[in-house]
Amino acid sequence: MVAVESLSELRQHVQNARQAGLTIGCVPTMGALHAGHISLVEAAKKETDFVVVTIFVNPTQFGPNEDFSKYPRPLELDLQMCREAGVDVVFHPEVPTVYPAGATTSVEVGGLSSVLEGAFRPGHFRGVATVVLKLFNMVQPDVAFFGQKDFQQQLVIKHMVRDLDVPVRVQTCPTKREADGLAMSSRNVYLSPEERQTSVLLSQALKLAETMVHQGGATPGGIEAAMKKHLETDPRVSIDYAKLVDAHTLADLNRIQSEMVALIAARVGTTRLIDNMLISGHLS
Ligand code: AMP
Repeated sequence: MVAVESLSELRQHVQNARQAGLTIGCVPTMGALHAGHISLVEAAKKETDFVVVTIFVNPTQFGPNEDFSKYPRPLELDLQMCREAGVDVVFHPEVPTVYPAGATTSVEVGGLSSVLEGAFRPGHFRGVATVVLKLFNMVQPDVAFFGQKDFQQQLVIKHMVRDLDVPVRVQTCPTKREADGLAMSSRNVYLSPEERQTSVLLSQALKLAETMVHQGGATPGGIEAAMKKHLETDPRVSIDYAKLVDAHTLADLNRIQSEMVALIAARVGTTRLIDNMLISGHLS
């Protein structure tokens, strides 16, 4: 495995792999790697011949009062995990490599970027879409791997790729969870032991939504209210949203339909967590 910081070195390694006839897989991350990220690497190794992991804490996707400066950056541990997972190249550029002085171009994916996460984190998906398109242009992968954990993100990226004819296939991989159901996240390290226990409420609320859909008789509004009620059983939780929406458009639902996603964003103490579950209901 090689770890490179410059775009020219990255391009050289990718070009060599291409000339050897290998297909290129890319796993974009912000580092602080955990088993969820490694599951994306494993998917990439299965589907492609040469795997590039990018590690870049992207400033443009953080709001002014968010955790950009305190976001964990354990680079040596990350490199070790990538080495053990069989990654070929880790690209970990500095901010000026990705955003040279004077850069003013950004990517705005209309519609999807302004709801849910986009409503609570204005500009977030502009930052995400811009950096992901840039990383795609830098790595030029055949396939890029994203986690379902960030459901809206993978949807936004798929729309961008479709709308802008980006020659990359985007593959979404299942969410890796701790034994109690908490979705793995780099931000889980912020949780105190008590908050860590409380955090299980998010995945429980999603399971509750799934059970209610499968039992039948509940409305989308009733299911959202039940998720909120479950989350509010602990005063450490403050909810940004708990929604059951169309899995393709993220539009609100009047009735239960076949392809839905339940999405939660909530702060546990000061740590903001997100989670989601795809739910298939009956057609009604
Ligand atoms: P991040 O470093 O948090 O930006 O995440 C990088 C990629 O890993 C994104 O595509 C995430 O959706 C994905 N990811 C994060 N957590 C998980 C998880 N628990 N399971 C699967 N993929 C994940």
